[in-house]
Amino acid sequence: MNAHMHRFLTLTLLLGLASSCTMVRDFLIPPARNAYAGMNRVKQRPADLILGRVEVPGVGLRSLAIRGSTLVAVGMPTEMTALMGSRTSRVDMNGLWVSPGLRDAHVHLEGAALVQSAPALFNAKTPQALSELFESHLGLVPVRGWLWGFGLQKRLTKSLSAESLETMMPGVPLWLSAADGHSAVLSATLVDRLPPKLRKQVNALHGRVSEQLARRAWFTLAPPAGERLKPYVVKVLKRWRRLGITSVDVMGARMELYDTLRELEVAGRLTLEVRLYLAWPSPKVQRWLQAQAHKPLRLRSPKLSPSSRRHKVTIVGVKTWLDGTLGSHTAALSKAYSDRPQELKPLVGAARLSAIRSFTDRLSLQLAVHAIGDAAVDAVIGLKPGAAGRPIRVEHVQVARPDQLPQLQHVLCSIQPRHRLEDSPWARERLGVERMSWAYRGASLAKTCPLLFGSDAPVSTSDPRQIIDAAVKRPSPERLTRAQALTAMQRDPLNAKFSPRLHIGSTANLTFWNVDPKKNDSAKPMASMVHGILSINRSKSAK
Ligand SMILES: [Zn+2]
Repeated sequence: MNAHMHRFLTLTLLLGLASSCTMVRDFLIPPARNAYAGMNRVKQRPADLILGRVEVPGVGLRSLAIRGSTLVAVGMPTEMTALMGSRTSRVDMNGLWVSPGLRDAHVHLEGAALVQSAPALFNAKTPQALSELFESHLGLVPVRGWLWGFGLQKRLTKSLSAESLETMMPGVPLWLSAADGHSAVLSATLVDRLPPKLRKQVNALHGRVSEQLARRAWFTLAPPAGERLKPYVVKVLKRWRRLGITSVDVMGARMELYDTLRELEVAGRLTLEVRLYLAWPSPKVQRWLQAQAHKPLRLRSPKLSPSSRRHKVTIVGVKTWLDGTLGSHTAALSKAYSDRPQELKPLVGAARLSAIRSFTDRLSLQLAVHAIGDAAVDAVIGLKPGAAGRPIRVEHVQVARPDQLPQLQHVLCSIQPRHRLEDSPWARERLGVERMSWAYRGASLAKTCPLLFGSDAPVSTSDPRQIIDAAVKRPSPERLTRAQALTAMQRDPLNAKFSPRLHIGSTANLTFWNVDPKKNDSAKPMASMVHGILSINRSKSAK
């Protein structure tokens, strides 16, 4: 499939479809205007792949035609004959139900890849168990010279320090990430590798860093990228693909990850569409973005014309943090925590936030803002909707006061339905009864703010079925319908007018199910297509 094939979306095909359009109109969106270019080339452009017997919800059994990475037709089998060429492949989908591809709107790909290479600390209940775990990993996973573990239990985080880790394992550079993914304990040997100013700050906390400091230290110590990370990235993406996911939004990515992913894409090893929101303010990212300021096209926004080649990996935005987490008492709340007299202002002031926003607007990037507490949400609301820019994504929105809801209609709310379950052991204690009723919203948030669903992997499970279940199997009034939840797992944050249908002329990212996913709890992804490449799950269970 060569690049200029995309240039000619075939009109005959679209005209052919028009006959059946009365029936499928509800499901098909006309192609973008420029897709009509090259209409006279129609007959010379056969499809690369025709999928037979696909159940299109509300329409019936149809065939789908794919050319390159584009969905070019949905119609009756007879309408496909015009698209058959000598090199056109055919696959019988055996009545599987199709939906737009599932997206995970919030993942940490590097973290998820590193998790594959590091010991899981979830089950270590004592320092002794910890040291045994690391003992067995010594020499196995040198993360550019240091060892990393994840999933440290909360209780252990409190009892460990740089000094105690040093006593446990003298001379070993250790980084232990807490189970919430947002705080860590560093051993004295590792702290010594930090630049002087940062080292002083981390030492003052006895190596127990949360949020901002952890992030700065992480970027300074530079976890592995490139060749070392590659096999793990490949593995993780494959796993997500098997779950029916076709596209992921990576939050707080480093430039190194972009390079790694580009290499994988060129080598044909990238199985998912990956979109990056670069970490701001990582100094390296800032420098790079500044350098791009006058050549925004190099950012390869996915808003490509049909004539362009579609990249699977693109930099689409910037992620910045306004606060930390509820678990570590670092989320910015407008009133003190119920279990601790602590107030925290948003980490970024209004002026700075709006400067970042103008910057992203100028580069046609989307701004993703981490805001968990209501005070952080206030800061996002304070930003006026931009004229030309993309809508701002608010990540997490875990505490939103009733008066904030109507003001969220200009942003996208990126939430992780599983967090409500995972935080339940302590959330009420932190927030108190009244505030708890504003926390972890579902239906009330969806009324004003278009939802995006994500996993926050590796902090939480990536399985879309579990994410959807968490949203639809909760008590009313915050329960969402299956259709709402499914849409939140398909919505494209870059497309303000998103509707959960098959769009002729769009990138062929599709998920195939055993039953209608909008109606059945038992719906399970059986196959998926990413940029026109089909992958069928080899599952034991019959569909
Ligand atoms: Zn996250």
